[in-house]
Amino acid sequence: MDEPIVGYDGNLSNRSTFAGVKRGSIGDLEKVDVAIVGAPFDWGTTFRPGARFGPGAIRGADYLGPDGERPHLPTGIDPFRVLETVDLGDFHLVPGYIEESISNIRRGIQMIAEQDTVPIVLGGDHTITFPNAGGIADVYGHGEVALVHFDAHADTGETHFGQLVGHGTPMRRLIESGAVPGHRFVQIGLRGYWPPPTVVEWMREHGMRSYLMTDIVERGLVPVVDEALHHVLDGASKVFISVDIDVVDPGMAPGTGTPEPGGLTSRELLDTIRRLSRELNVVGADVVEVSPPYDGPGQVTAFLANRVVLEVLNGMAERRSRRLS
Ligand code: MN
Ligand code: MN
Repeated sequence: MDEPIVGYDGNLSNRSTFAGVKRGSIGDLEKVDVAIVGAPFDWGTTFRPGARFGPGAIRGADYLGPDGERPHLPTGIDPFRVLETVDLGDFHLVPGYIEESISNIRRGIQMIAEQDTVPIVLGGDHTITFPNAGGIADVYGHGEVALVHFDAHADTGETHFGQLVGHGTPMRRLIESGAVPGHRFVQIGLRGYWPPPTVVEWMREHGMRSYLMTDIVERGLVPVVDEALHHVLDGASKVFISVDIDVVDPGMAPGTGTPEPGGLTSRELLDTIRRLSRELNVVGADVVEVSPPYDGPGQVTAFLANRVVLEVLNGMAERRSRRLS
């Protein structure tokens, strides 16, 4: 390929790396455990745009120096001492052109996973989970990877303004393409007024396991996550975690395109993400729908998204440390 897939010369992100980790190259990920990569993409949104500025804001929501240690207070583990982590910069995308952009993302994700490296993608609107989880499934086998999806919305729309690809349809496309079958899905945090009953019926027919906020309120988050873990571990040895930041209540995460009141707290999301990343074999993850132009004072949503990524890394590092000890 003549055009590079990814790099630091995009103009939508700042050029610093996530948590000050080393810059990496997509062609050379030998001995690299985790590759952070930005996807400054928001031309699949249906309402408020701005998620193209997510990767830069998420990287920038950090007040520790680039060279310092950052041991996690509850565990004492510094994930960057356990996991060799690099930042690849941002995917090279074609603003306004969905197909060209997602095919570049999918190829990039395949290249990362083929080198046994775990990609963690900073979005970007939720359209990108189609190529993110799809690229992972291309490498590890269609049907072999489970997907844990945090979101206010099911993202299983049949079409998006008559088109197949957009931020309301990625989970439908993953299921219909066979990359991630419905029975391998666990969704957490759904609420509000979408999708319509016909789509909910389709989800049920395809074996999707969807936990609404009302389930979480009635049964408690921990029992729901216990059950979700049990379901995910049923036959799938590899997991992709997709976090739409709008799963958190807009009071704590206002910087997003399609806010839906009544969500999880930041604390609940962070604890759940670390638990899943510790107990499951995470082979890929993304954090999406952070729209900095709508963020609150103090970039509260960007800070939350940054810490979601850190909790994924902390959980993975705990898992690795436990295996080594
Ligand atoms: Mn979503
Ligand atoms: Mn959503």
